[in-house]
Amino acid sequence: MNMKLKVNKDKCIGCGQCVSICDKVFDFDDDNLAKVIVDSVPEDLEEDSNTAKEACPTGAIEEE
Ligand code: SF4
Repeated sequence: MNMKLKVNKDKCIGCGQCVSICDKVFDFDDDNLAKVIVDSVPEDLEEDSNTAKEACPTGAIEEE
C-alpha cells in the first residue's frame, strides 16, 4: 500500500519547505499553510516526500 500523508495544520507554520522539496505532493492551501494534494503518495515520489517530511521544522507532516 502506498504511503498516505497529511499536514497537521495545528503544527504547520507555512514555511514552504515541503512545497519546494516536492510540489507534486505538497501545495499551499487558501490559508497559506501546506496541504497534501495526493490521495496517496506514488512510489516514485516517496523518497522526495520522506525528505520533505523530515525537513519540516515543526514535524507537521504526518503519516496516516
Ligand atoms: S515544511 Fe512543515 S511547516 Fe513548512 S509548510 Fe510544510 S508542513 Fe508546513
